[in-house]
Amino acid sequence: MTTCDVTIVGAGPYGLSAAAHLRTVKGLEVRVFGEPMSFWERHMPVGMLLRSNWTATHIADSNRSLTLEAYQAAGGNHLSAPVPLDRFIQYGLWYQRHAVPDLDQRKVARIASGPSGFLVILAGGEVISSRRVVVAAGIASFAWRPSEFEGLPHSLASHSSEHRDLSRFAGQRLAVVGAGQSALESAALLHEAGAEVEVIARSRRIHWLQGLASKMLHHRLGSVTSRLLYAPTDVGPAGISQIVARPDLLRRLPRRLQDRLRKRSVRPAGARWLVRRLQNVPINLGRSIVSVAPARGRARIRLDDGSERTVDHILLGTGYRVDVSRYDFLAPELMQSIRRFNGYPWLREGLETSVPGLHILGAPAGWSFGPLMQFVSGTHYASRSLMRCIAEKAAN
Ligand SMILES: Cc1cc2nc3c(=O)[nH]c(=O)nc-3n(C[C@H](O)[C@H](O)[C@H](O)COP(=O)(O)OP(=O)(O)OC[C@H]3O[C@@H](n4cnc5c(N)ncnc54)[C@H](O)[C@@H]3O)c2cc1C
Repeated sequence: MTTCDVTIVGAGPYGLSAAAHLRTVKGLEVRVFGEPMSFWERHMPVGMLLRSNWTATHIADSNRSLTLEAYQAAGGNHLSAPVPLDRFIQYGLWYQRHAVPDLDQRKVARIASGPSGFLVILAGGEVISSRRVVVAAGIASFAWRPSEFEGLPHSLASHSSEHRDLSRFAGQRLAVVGAGQSALESAALLHEAGAEVEVIARSRRIHWLQGLASKMLHHRLGSVTSRLLYAPTDVGPAGISQIVARPDLLRRLPRRLQDRLRKRSVRPAGARWLVRRLQNVPINLGRSIVSVAPARGRARIRLDDGSERTVDHILLGTGYRVDVSRYDFLAPELMQSIRRFNGYPWLREGLETSVPGLHILGAPAGWSFGPLMQFVSGTHYASRSLMRCIAEKAAN
């Protein structure tokens, strides 16, 4: 059996950034597993633009040599803003080649407690004994399919994460459920691909980001004041953005206030540049779906206003709900030992769970470290905190 100090599960922004940081700790043997940027490559739609702004789109590395600017300079890779999905994936792969050239793309099939930490079982059967494990496995396991749609086959109702190429729906009639970025951008891409789309959402209004109020604020207050109100991490509205950018501060606030700030920072919202692209797409707000049933190979939807429509497909832009028990590679006895709240693990400094030596990064860290952890810009905090914790313990 081979051994190592740290095993990282996942090669998205969080896993790659954690690896880049831990590789700077002298004498630490780190192994990293997973297909690089695979969530972005397989579970987001072709043509998507990143919602996060430029300063919030760098994957953190310890000496800032792998920023978007460095990527541009490296090979004449011009990037526009908002950054297109395919260019961000290319950037992530470039980052991986530089920071983690020895990435092992095998899947981790099982993590269980072991005599000196953990046993990591790879697809194919190889077993590694690892003193620590860092889980950076992302949100793919948490795609949320509301119960109303459980009876429908996937051919009639699918989650937005199940599609890479929305042009396959050209010429069809679709209902897109939801009012967040994913639902709205999918509706725009479907419309542009030649589908007949209607958006249906429970919320009474769409929250557009960078609206008039925010623009006035930026304009009136000037760049210095606006920098005081908005952190470069770009998560949360004026003022709150600065608190959210400092998870160590956020963690000290009363739980109820933390929850309120979190809710306010990541409520469903659409990027302003979608407004024009959606002007010819009907958007039905303040409506719930009361029933949905198959009807001759299509889906019949009834809304709470009594109206009915029959569509070829329902696209669920219903987001993600963190529940780490859905990480099926964590052995049940290990899972049982992880202290959790509503599916989120409780984490201490270094994003370490209640199981010593087991760390969880990314969106599941949101309950303990706030909404920043749901975004690429959270890699700066998470990787530094992890590195500090592991380096200190390795030195003792
Ligand atoms: C439609 C959409 C748009 C988004 N837009 C933005 C945006 O503009 N800006 C932003 O900051 N965030 C955005 N996000 C959020 C984004 O998903 C996260 O910021 C980012 O992916 C978090 O990185 P991660 O490393 O935690 O997860 P991921 O990028 O999902 O990476 C997880 C990795 O783990 C690997 N993995 C999982 N299980 C295993 C296993 N058992 N063995 C080995 N490897 C495994 C996967 O293959 C994958 O490579 C968006 C999300 C969605 C759904």
